[in-house]
Amino acid sequence: MKKSVVILGGGLTGLSAAWQLTKYGIKVSVIEKEHYTGGLSASIEKDGFIFDFGPHRFHTHDNKILEMVDSLVGHRLRKLTKSTKIWFMKKYFDYPLKAKDVFLNISLMLSLSCFFDYLFVRLKNKFKPMQDTSFETWVINRFGKSIYNFYFGPYTEKTWGRPPSMLSSSYAEQRIPAMNLLDVIKRSFITKFKKDNHPHSPYDSKFYYPYKGIGEIAHFLEKGILEHGGKIYTDSNVRKVTINNKKVQSVTFSGATGEKVIECDYLISTIALPDFIKVVVPDVDAPLLSAANNLSYRSIVFLNLIIDRPFVTSHHWIYIPPKNILFNRLSEIKNFSVDTIKDGMTSLCLEIPCDKGDLIWNSKPEDLYEKVVLQLEEIGLVSKEDIRNYFISRTEYGYPIYDITHAVKLEKLMKYVDQLDNLIVAGRQGLFKYINMDHAIKMGILSADVIMGYAKKEEVAQVCAWKGYYG
Ligand SMILES: Cc1cc2nc3c(=O)[nH]c(=O)nc-3n(C[C@H](O)[C@H](O)[C@H](O)COP(=O)(O)OP(=O)(O)OC[C@H]3O[C@@H](n4cnc5c(N)ncnc54)[C@H](O)[C@@H]3O)c2cc1C
Repeated sequence: MKKSVVILGGGLTGLSAAWQLTKYGIKVSVIEKEHYTGGLSASIEKDGFIFDFGPHRFHTHDNKILEMVDSLVGHRLRKLTKSTKIWFMKKYFDYPLKAKDVFLNISLMLSLSCFFDYLFVRLKNKFKPMQDTSFETWVINRFGKSIYNFYFGPYTEKTWGRPPSMLSSSYAEQRIPAMNLLDVIKRSFITKFKKDNHPHSPYDSKFYYPYKGIGEIAHFLEKGILEHGGKIYTDSNVRKVTINNKKVQSVTFSGATGEKVIECDYLISTIALPDFIKVVVPDVDAPLLSAANNLSYRSIVFLNLIIDRPFVTSHHWIYIPPKNILFNRLSEIKNFSVDTIKDGMTSLCLEIPCDKGDLIWNSKPEDLYEKVVLQLEEIGLVSKEDIRNYFISRTEYGYPIYDITHAVKLEKLMKYVDQLDNLIVAGRQGLFKYINMDHAIKMGILSADVIMGYAKKEEVAQVCAWKGYYG
């Protein structure tokens, strides 16, 4: 008898799993809350312009995944070299930071204080290694207090909405490049620096991008699934996952045609782990529910602008650390692919970090637009007369928040889901893991292989288990 698999969530993880399973001839149903698939890696069209949910560069060290994505999009991937900046103290700095740039742009006093602080922590660490108890201590232990105070601290607090002393050091480990300031200094002055052997080097600036927006990857996955007889239910919200005898029996969801129940032999869940726990029947016990309620995600409101100018910047994106500016990053998709805009014009996507339900999240689009446009003018990038149209997009699940207690809560929840025989949890939201697109695709494919008996369930969560920088 053929197996029947239900997949919760039609982002890259869910779609890759479904794509692979339908190729194996398995009956698959994908249940997706939104009216489109792709999740965070979807693209949206407006007035002939294509927008992503913030800048998405495809990069991977796994050649099989690269070949798969390349052939999926018809060998139409552009190979690009990343160009990014940081704007603060009203100046532009290279990213990753270059010492030359920093020393030329900040005051002599601050430069000296950064340099001696750095020397001090390096020497101190040599004699008595310091403990990384939080994001804050991780950065100070490697860069010194001055660099932390003028850049890492404020940017992190703005992006995460929490003091860096409350965030886990594992987040810093995965997302902060250039751990060695001496390396930064050498790279600033020696242009032909030897190739980095580090598998996730921040200096590995090559990446790929499809011609018509990052959403093309999801689009072709979806096409493949449908062609192979898979079903995708969009606009459909998971309501109930019924468990019997340590096995998932069925999934109930509500969609355009009312409520529907699908029996399944296997379930792959890529929706947010806390949300999954809350729809399980019979209900989980109170401590587990409390762990689920206390794992949180940082949300993002995206302000997308259509601009009547040939270009605004020559960069892929610019980080904006100052706290008085609402957005923490802006990206210009035209610099990824000119096929995303109309001739002679451009667009910008501004990411505004927030928590679901706060003032930003609940702002009326027109109010947010008026505020943010003033700030764009203050930076000197765009004036209001250049803007032809705008719209807001949102995601509740932008980033899993690695607070200092998240690992304990996560372990509890994983213990519960792991004991359900025919359930695989995968993906950025499912595993509460800060992964990239290539990891999501790999997790999806591995999940399919687990069901076929070609891989072990543990392998899914081990994708991206590398301790270090991910870019
Ligand atoms: C601003 C930003 C920039 C990024 N830039 C990059 C980059 O440059 N390079 C890179 O490699 N990665 C990048 N990423 C990460 C990348 O987007 C993700 O790793 C990837 O898209 C995760 O895919 P996923 O399927 O695991 O999760 P998601 O895309 O979140 O998919 C989960 C899906 O489940 C659906 N869902 C949720 N709840 C329910 C429910 N109750 N019922 C039914 N469906 C539900 C959601 O609508 C969604 O479609 C970025 C992420 C963000 C937020």
